[in-house]
Amino acid sequence: RPRKRFGQNFLRDGNIARKILDALDPDPADAVVEIGPGEGALTRLLLERLDRLDAIELDRDLIPALEGLAGGDRLRVQAADALAFDFRALAAERGRRLRVVGNLPYNISTPLLFHLLDQRDALSDMHFMLQREVVDRLAAQPGTKTYGRLSVMAQLDCAVTSLFRVPPGAFYPVPQVESAVVRLRLRPEDAPRPRDRTRFAEVVTRAFQARRKTLRNALRGLCDPSCLEAADIDPHLRAESLAVDDFIRLADRVTEGAGRPAES
Ligand code: SAM
Repeated sequence: RPRKRFGQNFLRDGNIARKILDALDPDPADAVVEIGPGEGALTRLLLERLDRLDAIELDRDLIPALEGLAGGDRLRVQAADALAFDFRALAAERGRRLRVVGNLPYNISTPLLFHLLDQRDALSDMHFMLQREVVDRLAAQPGTKTYGRLSVMAQLDCAVTSLFRVPPGAFYPVPQVESAVVRLRLRPEDAPRPRDRTRFAEVVTRAFQARRKTLRNALRGLCDPSCLEAADIDPHLRAESLAVDDFIRLADRVTEGAGRPAES
């Protein structure tokens, strides 16, 4: 029986599972890790295509049935919390970057994404089923209502593509919300990055906390108008107008300024 506290909505539409597999399009030797395999709707299909599969499942009661899906050591299911999982260690063990896939419990999707992005050097890409609103926010472009902190933080590290929507009836129990599948492909090492990520996150958070204010007002005390102008950004704009590259330039100016004594 599905358990609510584990965010269990199992996929019962085989066509959707097939579409996720097609989107992933794995090579047999890929190091794929499935988060929350549940009753194995996707796991079964992944095993048809992969030499080996790793999975992380929090609900121990589901593990014996999952382990029965493959013989030998082709499938390893770890009873673990994905939010605390060491993906770097798994990538090191497999000797390659991981491809992460999962129909995630919606209540942990944002913290899990940040946990994964903290270990981005261990990842190649991610394919997730999420609440549709979250996918829209992840993939949103500047100048739109859904564009915000989550869009900027995800797009700093990943090329984000919203792939397809999934109706509530594809699951049991039927959830309250619509779902969608998203692809996040990690950017190459040499992609533009801020000098100080903590500072970058602070600037983005502050800018969107007051998203109706101009940047001049929203960032008061952190980046004054001369700092905004030095980053070539009009102080009268709002956060939603800035692309990721603009935020990088802005955060780098703040980082540089932070090292200098305040002007008298
Ligand atoms: N992949 C299955 C499917 O598509 O039918 C199950 C999806 S269900 C939405 C989410 C799964 O994640 C459940 O099996 C649940 O037990 C598991 N889960 C919940 N929290 C988890 C966590 N923190 N770490 C790992 N798995 C978790």
